[in-house]
Amino acid sequence: APVIWWIRRDLRLSDNAALTAAVDSGAPVLPVFIFDTQDEDLGAAPRFRLGLGLEHLAQRLERLGSRLILRRGAALQVLQDLLKETGAQAVHWIRAYDPASRARDTLIKETLKSQSVAAHSYSGNLLFEPWTVETKTGGMYRVYTPFWRAVRGRDVPGLLAAPGTIPAPEQWPNSDQLDTWKLAAAMRRGAPVLAAHCRVGEEAAQDRLDEFIENGIARYQDLRDLPAVDGTSGLSENLAWGEISPQRMWHRGAEAMAQGAAGAETFLKEVVWREFAYHLMFHTPHILTKSWREEWQTFAWSENEDTPEVLAWKQGRTGYRFVDAAMRELYVTGKMHNRARMIVASFLTKHMLTHWRIGQKWFEHCLVDWDPASNAMGWQWVAGSGPDAAPFFRVFNPDGQLDKFDPKGRYQAQWIAEGNPNPPDTARAFFAACPKSWQLSADMARPRPILDLKAGRERALEAYQNRDKG
Ligand code: FAD
Repeated sequence: APVIWWIRRDLRLSDNAALTAAVDSGAPVLPVFIFDTQDEDLGAAPRFRLGLGLEHLAQRLERLGSRLILRRGAALQVLQDLLKETGAQAVHWIRAYDPASRARDTLIKETLKSQSVAAHSYSGNLLFEPWTVETKTGGMYRVYTPFWRAVRGRDVPGLLAAPGTIPAPEQWPNSDQLDTWKLAAAMRRGAPVLAAHCRVGEEAAQDRLDEFIENGIARYQDLRDLPAVDGTSGLSENLAWGEISPQRMWHRGAEAMAQGAAGAETFLKEVVWREFAYHLMFHTPHILTKSWREEWQTFAWSENEDTPEVLAWKQGRTGYRFVDAAMRELYVTGKMHNRARMIVASFLTKHMLTHWRIGQKWFEHCLVDWDPASNAMGWQWVAGSGPDAAPFFRVFNPDGQLDKFDPKGRYQAQWIAEGNPNPPDTARAFFAACPKSWQLSADMARPRPILDLKAGRERALEAYQNRDKG
């Protein structure tokens, strides 16, 4: 009887314990991806990026004499249908850690076992399973540095080679056609624009890692904060859908560190920030939906998304160049530099005194590297409401930050067309990408500031003081 390799956020063949176990069982393997009903509200950019990843994986599997079976519906029902249709007796998958997936997977495991179907889940999308990292008193970590100290010396499982062949069943079950899922349909800004900025698939991700380890990691520490410079790995997009494993990033980074590469430890620490985000989501899932610290749940943030100011923020028209460049970069590429994420998040939650959830939601809609844990942690870190967060009173001045991190004005020039007689393609691309209803064009005047920085800052600090009183 065949076995099912249930593919989720692990669109890769190497470092994939679920696939390895399926192949090692000696039985024919059915690679299955289910577009689960619980994922129906996936944002436009991640949904689009999923489509690119699936298309690529399907081709890769075909080269190995296998196939990608696509099904849509409630995962448990779909699996049961498949088991019935194919006579499969086992299902293997890599674990997920968000609350909805955990609840679903627990139910599926119990149900399958009660039907005498083997259900095996594996580690693979994290370096350290969240429940294995504990403080001395057996609790979760709430602060990053001790978390880092607790894990940095640990053994990380070795890498697994991609199987050379994947045994095929005599008969394949039906598969949906990927294009009928219309995963790009919600991309109002034109799929080709975004696709041009994506690096899709496991091979491309591994090539990029090689290149980064060879040429980038030594200078990572110096360059990682400069948004106009290609100074980071750029692998978050691939990690988000598991096209590369964190184990591979860890081992390659650790080797570079052993060879004395200056930025390697900083890089490992960043990879562990992602682990920390998952640790927080696992132990305190409310981080996804409400302010992590209770005292922030009643903070005076505006929750009105339909204001001209919020629209200007989304459209990169706040009149502040760092914010505007970043929001346009996000819209055109589906990515945003980490420094820029902090600036736009600070601007929204402090200068604009607007709830971080509004920003979190926009990112969820626009980011090809959207990751529920890192996004929630990132927003709450900047907003001040999260664990180990930046203090609320640390309000970034977007102009000061620009002087510091974009001293030659390259980032702004890259993304802001107005006022530039000869804007580069990137800056023009934003106007080509944005929906007609926004009524924006490159020859408009530069947007005027939607607020006064000093007044905005004072208003934020006042709200903060009142919170302390209340
Ligand atoms: P590199 O600098 O090369 O770092 C390597 C890897 O380490 C990254 O791929 C990422 O997995 C991890 N990492 C680095 N910085 C962080 C961080 N601050 N938090 C968690 N993990 C980190 N990251 C996402 O992957 N998805 C998100 O949806 C997301 N939303 C964010 C929202 C806000 C408001 C902020 C401030 C940060 C957010 N981040 C998110 C974290 C960070 O901005 C990105 O991971 C990073 O920019 C990715 O670029 P890179 O792959 O070149 O990173």
